[in-house]
Amino acid sequence: MRIYADNAATTKMSRTAIDAMLPYLETVYGNPSSLHTVGQEAKEALEDARTRIAALLGAAPREIYFTSGGSEADNQAIRSAAILGKRKGKTHIISTAFEHHAVLHTLKKLEKEGFTVTYLDVHENGLVTPEQVEAAITPETCLVTIMYANNEIGTIQPIRAIGAVCRKAGVLFHTDAVQAVGHIPVNVAEDNIDMLSLSAHKFHGPKGIGVLYAKRGIILSSLIEGGAQERNKRAGTENIPAIMGMAAAMEEAVRSLPETMPRVTALRDRLIAGLNEIPHGALNGDAKNRLPGNVNFCFEGIEGESLLLLLDDRGVCASSGSACTSGSLDPSHVLLAIGRPHEVAHGSLRLTLDASATEAEVDAIIAAVQEVVEYLRNMSPVWRELMNGERKFVID
Ligand SMILES: *Cc1c(COP(=O)(O)O)cnc(C)c1O
Repeated sequence: MRIYADNAATTKMSRTAIDAMLPYLETVYGNPSSLHTVGQEAKEALEDARTRIAALLGAAPREIYFTSGGSEADNQAIRSAAILGKRKGKTHIISTAFEHHAVLHTLKKLEKEGFTVTYLDVHENGLVTPEQVEAAITPETCLVTIMYANNEIGTIQPIRAIGAVCRKAGVLFHTDAVQAVGHIPVNVAEDNIDMLSLSAHKFHGPKGIGVLYAKRGIILSSLIEGGAQERNKRAGTENIPAIMGMAAAMEEAVRSLPETMPRVTALRDRLIAGLNEIPHGALNGDAKNRLPGNVNFCFEGIEGESLLLLLDDRGVCASSGSACTSGSLDPSHVLLAIGRPHEVAHGSLRLTLDASATEAEVDAIIAAVQEVVEYLRNMSPVWRELMNGERKFVID
């Protein structure tokens, strides 16, 4: 038995996505910039994918730029807004302390280049408020960048209201929607979004392909110099097979939301209820405003890495939080941002379900986690101190 519960790290490609790619690997292999028939067939496919993806987001085709994934889209969105801001003498950016590293590291670089960044506090529930954003905006603010849904704790921000605040103040608003698209409804027009990043491999599409949406009128700067692809904003021959796989996967994921969202949410809540039975454990992030498939717990007296290895032995693929920080000994910046102390943040477990999950799998995960947590606690000196009263519990 193997249960894959790490869909926030990446997803298995869907049959639909693979089938949509094959013709572009086998027969329609042209370069869209070529003038001959083989090239022009590829060009037609490219523009067809652009139109379909735009429609799913409530955007216009010319507002869609293909990138190598979510990281590149985040980098380009933030860099572009910074360059536009600097031209007007505006060098202040607003974000949060628990963004993805593609955002945080870009902001850190900009700080070295003279920008000032306000990192809004996320409350204990993992949410920021539109009021916090409004209060942080100054006449120097050129960009607000706040993620749609968090990749570790799954909390969904009040994006529409934050977007409205930015619109009113005339400040550009970017959102990293990599965890949101294909998992909850996202519409750039209704949500007041100026720029948005998405990535195909988070919704059963291929890896290495994503989109930067930029509202008409926003002048992007290119990160990569070269040919005139993507209206001069992203050089490099387009990855047509991946783009076609992404369009198909996105259509499938977005169109099935009315069916998958309630079903996956019920499985998530079943998993949360089961893990809540474990003493001295707690759910991280708001219980309601969270992604349908996301469960993230802290268990006291547990070391996250051992928990993951023992779960893997029992056939459960899980994560301690972000795939990017696993292997490092630093506790998750997201858990620290919501106020979890270091020693508890080390004992975190993220389980992320997709629409293929079943009740039987959820029950098997619950049993495995209960068993492994008890086993590790019995061996843990920290747990002994907690039980003896030599150390205080952080989680009741
Ligand atoms: C996965 C992820 C990214 C990075 O996307 P890639 O396509 O892997 O570069 C960015 N932001 C969030 C929130 C993510 O979950």
